[in-house]
Amino acid sequence: MMKDQWIYLSGEFVKKEDAKISVYDHGFLYGDGVFEGIRVYSGNVYKLDEHLKRLYNSAKSIMLDIPHSSEEMTEIILETLRKNDLQDAYIRLVVSRGVGNLGLDPASCSSPQIIAIAEELAIYPKEFYENGLDIVTVATRRNSPDVLSPKVKSLNYLNNILVKIEAGLAGVSEALMLNSEGYVAEGSADNIFIIRNNTLYTPPGYIGALEGITRAAIMELSEELGYTLKEEPFTRHDVYTADEVFLTGTAAEVIAVVKVDGRIIGDGKPGYHTNVLLDGFRRKVVQDGVKIYSANEVKA
Ligand code: PMP
Repeated sequence: MMKDQWIYLSGEFVKKEDAKISVYDHGFLYGDGVFEGIRVYSGNVYKLDEHLKRLYNSAKSIMLDIPHSSEEMTEIILETLRKNDLQDAYIRLVVSRGVGNLGLDPASCSSPQIIAIAEELAIYPKEFYENGLDIVTVATRRNSPDVLSPKVKSLNYLNNILVKIEAGLAGVSEALMLNSEGYVAEGSADNIFIIRNNTLYTPPGYIGALEGITRAAIMELSEELGYTLKEEPFTRHDVYTADEVFLTGTAAEVIAVVKVDGRIIGDGKPGYHTNVLLDGFRRKVVQDGVKIYSANEVKA
């Protein structure tokens, strides 16, 4: 028999089949809300504090008051993992504006809805890591800071969804998104790095990308490993002519890109440094994190 999946839904745990929200929730009506995607490795919730910080910052930016402290949110996440008896998992944490009327104004919304979904990990196919990705640049541009700050991880992901659709139409699984000035911003839901002569480059925050938790971890790791790291704007030309290119994200971790707009990157295989960073990242993730069960707590 399949075991039940329990969803945290604003104060209670309900079975997946019963986890329903109102059609009047502004998260549904308008994409009004914020979210995080968090990974759990061997019973450690990876960079939970950083994810919560980003969640609270996103919420503050859109004037959404999360009715829990960061400690309470941590407990909600840990409890969701315990309830589902998961050790390696992906968690989706959502805070929507909540139920209101049909008008745009969030003043009609009574209280935010908090949702935590923990699932077994759907790991990317092994071939993606072995062969690397073939990606294309799409016409859809990253939303710019003068419209909706790309630093806000909001429920409004239409921009990124359009990128996915464009990638699919081009017959590839990922895409390169530029900012409105034509500088490289990121992938559809992953940050980008290029490597040239042992130096790593990633677009600076002001170019318009999400401040990825994995991006920050790779930046830290690359410095520990003795690479030079530069946060600098770059163009498609720099991507085409790089020695190596890779994407980073919670689900993808570190994934090589071997072809961009038909141009083969390096020798067309995941590069040496990309593999060094992926290995280093995977070694580290099991060490730092918030433990689901504290040392003196016995797992039921
Ligand atoms: N950019 C966007 C637009 C994202 O949604 C994400 C999250 N998947 C990332 C980058 C990568 O961020 P993180 O490493 O925190 O998952």
